[in-house]
Amino acid sequence: MNIGNLLVSGHQDRLFINTGIGCEGGCQYCYLPKIGIGEVIRNVDKAVIIEEVEKREKNGEFIKGAQGTIVSFGCFTECWDKSIRKLTLEMLLYFLSKGNYIQISTKKFIGQKEIELLCSHLMFRNQLTINVSMPVYYDAKQIEPNTEDVNKRIENFKYNKQYGMDVILYIKPVLEDITIGSLDVYRQLIQRYDLSVVVGKYLHVDGGKEGCVQVVGNQEMWQKESRQQRELVEILRKTTKVYESSVQIIEEYRRKMGE
Ligand code: SF4
Repeated sequence: MNIGNLLVSGHQDRLFINTGIGCEGGCQYCYLPKIGIGEVIRNVDKAVIIEEVEKREKNGEFIKGAQGTIVSFGCFTECWDKSIRKLTLEMLLYFLSKGNYIQISTKKFIGQKEIELLCSHLMFRNQLTINVSMPVYYDAKQIEPNTEDVNKRIENFKYNKQYGMDVILYIKPVLEDITIGSLDVYRQLIQRYDLSVVVGKYLHVDGGKEGCVQVVGNQEMWQKESRQQRELVEILRKTTKVYESSVQIIEEYRRKMGE
């Protein structure tokens, strides 16, 4: 596997950073095996990532600043896995210093000290958002067998709005006949922690002619229409802000910044 183009991928609007490749979470819905990422690769050299980012910065593929490139961590790995956490933290600090909007998506609990360190480097409110991935609550042990216990993951929500950054309930992908079953828990969490939500569609490797293409890292995938995803969006919209992708959140931050 040529990991070079998996560590840093994307384009001028959105850069994808991976501080490792692969994951042992074993989620039934994970797209990594479907795009040929079965192996787990750690010990990534930080210099390799930085060199690629600098190259992109020189040729205009990476643009610094709040109106520049959105930086997304972890499309090809669990970026807060213990084995790569240190590098992820270092790379987050690197991008914070460049003034870009950054988002991470995780199923892990992030410790308070690390949250405090990150927030002390924010150049503006919500420069960093943490998307806590939770496509299922009740059957999480079966569907996401080797991931952090879902109740521990939930503890991340206590940081929401407390440190100058939003922590988002990230319900993606919506799993047919499964995700909707956790609706009561989602409602409770939203109310208790004043959360905004992403409710996103399932990504398919081969979508045929249906659905629209979405680029994740260097990979084109398809989002198909889902009745239950729409239903969940409409239900949750009655109680909070609901987005259908994490990029929409950044777009809203930018709009507010410009007001
Ligand atoms: S935690 Fe994320 S990357 Fe890991 S197996 Fe689950 S869906 Fe895939």
